[in-house]
Amino acid sequence: MAKITFLGAARTVTGSKYLIEAEGKRLLIDCGLFEGSKDLKQRNWDRIPVDVASIDWVLLTHAHIDHTGYLPRLVRSGFRGPIYANVATRELCELLLPDSAHLQEEDAQFAARKAYSSHKPPLPLYTLAESQAALAQFRDIPSNAPFTISSQFSVRPHQAGHILGATWLELTITENNKQTVVVFSGDVGRYDQPILKDPESPTHADILLCESTYGDRDHETGSVADALADVINSTAKRGGALVIPAFAVDRTQLLMYYLRVLQEQEKIPQLPVYLDSPMAINTTILYIRHRTDYDLKPQENLDPLNAQQVHMTRTVEDSKKINDVVSPCIIISASGMITGGRVLHHLARRLPDSRSTVLLVGYQAEGSGGRALLDGARYLRIHGEEVPVRAQVVEIGQLSAHAGRSELLRWLSCLQALPRQTFLVHGEPNALDSFRNAIASQYHWPVTIPDYLQSFDLDL
Ligand SMILES: [Zn+2]
Repeated sequence: MAKITFLGAARTVTGSKYLIEAEGKRLLIDCGLFEGSKDLKQRNWDRIPVDVASIDWVLLTHAHIDHTGYLPRLVRSGFRGPIYANVATRELCELLLPDSAHLQEEDAQFAARKAYSSHKPPLPLYTLAESQAALAQFRDIPSNAPFTISSQFSVRPHQAGHILGATWLELTITENNKQTVVVFSGDVGRYDQPILKDPESPTHADILLCESTYGDRDHETGSVADALADVINSTAKRGGALVIPAFAVDRTQLLMYYLRVLQEQEKIPQLPVYLDSPMAINTTILYIRHRTDYDLKPQENLDPLNAQQVHMTRTVEDSKKINDVVSPCIIISASGMITGGRVLHHLARRLPDSRSTVLLVGYQAEGSGGRALLDGARYLRIHGEEVPVRAQVVEIGQLSAHAGRSELLRWLSCLQALPRQTFLVHGEPNALDSFRNAIASQYHWPVTIPDYLQSFDLDL
């Protein structure tokens, strides 16, 4: 009997991993890292409660680290099978996984110097070499056509509109000549956004796994360009710096797109823009290379690197030099949730300055630095030191890469029959409960919110 086990993203938004078993074969959908609180991150170090060597394949929805960042650890623990993903997802992983390893190694070294780690001596979760070993197991699959994995499993990926290469998966499980269609939403994106195409909607699912990141709320409506112009103009007027902790993938490209539009329309002053993240720079180049995947109008130019006064700082020395800039400027730097990366040193420099602004442009998980700022923290712990928060903290919710509650309901609206079971995943408890109620009142479907490590028969 086919079975699913929730190895992550159960009652939380990170660590996506769903193990599917049929006829003794094991397929892992996504292989994400837990991020956020100390307790969640501890799960990355705990032994995965499955014989890793017995997993036959991994299949990815998209490249984000909370869906792929555990792969090096999985390979190190004995996984030897293929990792299936489309070309854009593989190319993004070639940037993201080594970067993730690099951050792990850096954090471990820093913790060793400052002696504040609970591991003695502090160790990285995985190394650069281990991330390369995982990448060597990647195999390309079509981004929008059926692909047969084995006699038990075949998959049809569909456009999710979330980031470059992002898909939701229509998995057909064949067992004893009986077929069950399981839909994995991955992360569902937005409708009517620049750059990426709209998400396609599923029409049939026996079993549905739906993300619920924003299951309890909709994004603000209103023009992103206007909101961004307001923040830039008010910060520039005070003579401060605008620090944007940006997700290197997608948020950065959207921001650069909007900055360019605002510059062209002369709605913002000509400020220096520092794109301070080698990852974000490389991802932007990748986005430009895959421009056939977008729904840009012919007159729209996806070349945000052409925005004026953009400085792309690849080296650490150049990054540190930004600390010397005293006139108004815009600093776009990862990570987007303030959980690591170069943005930490910019925040250590700019947070104590009341003229400056920190602009948050995406989901901020519980336990992250970004969430602490949104919750009004007066100090932020950066590299073991308490940094006072005097800068303005502003959020532009419209820039999220995740569908809001109504967009999730819209995504579900094309299903022609009631799924036998709907599992809500990838959400924090409030969002999950609220979205379960929304589905119950709108569609009258049976909905389950699975627990971490819980298993279910898919035959039901
Ligand atoms: Zn994602």
